[in-house]
Amino acid sequence: MIHKRGYAMNGESCCECGASLREGEAVVEMWSRSLGKMVGKKHWNYKTCKNNLKIGDKEMNTYEIVEDNGGGLTLYVFDGGGNVIDGIYDLAYAQPGEYDQVRAGLATDPLAEIAGWDGHIDSPQDDYHRITNYDCGWVIVCNNGTLYPDAMGAAAQKYFFGQ
Ligand SMILES: [Zn+2]
Repeated sequence: MIHKRGYAMNGESCCECGASLREGEAVVEMWSRSLGKMVGKKHWNYKTCKNNLKIGDKEMNTYEIVEDNGGGLTLYVFDGGGNVIDGIYDLAYAQPGEYDQVRAGLATDPLAEIAGWDGHIDSPQDDYHRITNYDCGWVIVCNNGTLYPDAMGAAAQKYFFGQ
């Protein structure tokens, strides 16, 4: 499955939580590689997606890892309001398979986990918007611990799976 940014059209609903989407609302389009077509749209901001309210604590920090088609791998940390509050670039230069060693820390408190890492982004909110404003050329490969292996390129596969 490939995840792309898109927009909702009139009458569409989220394939994860079933709620109606507003026309023009930012969504994640899910494209099946094998079918060669889009198979669903879901809320862009997963914190507004009712399916994700099971996470419970709305103030909890969460994170996303985005891979661009230049092999760049970037981690963004969000606060409970959906603001990007920190980020790390060039994860692709980390040790192969490093994700296994940091996933528990990221699940507990991503902001604390990355505090000691190299490569903090100066303006993470702007950086996130700059990348994700393009319709293509980037994919979310990890959404708060949920991996999307089918969307991964070589850089992400190396980071998450060591190969
Ligand atoms: Zn939803």
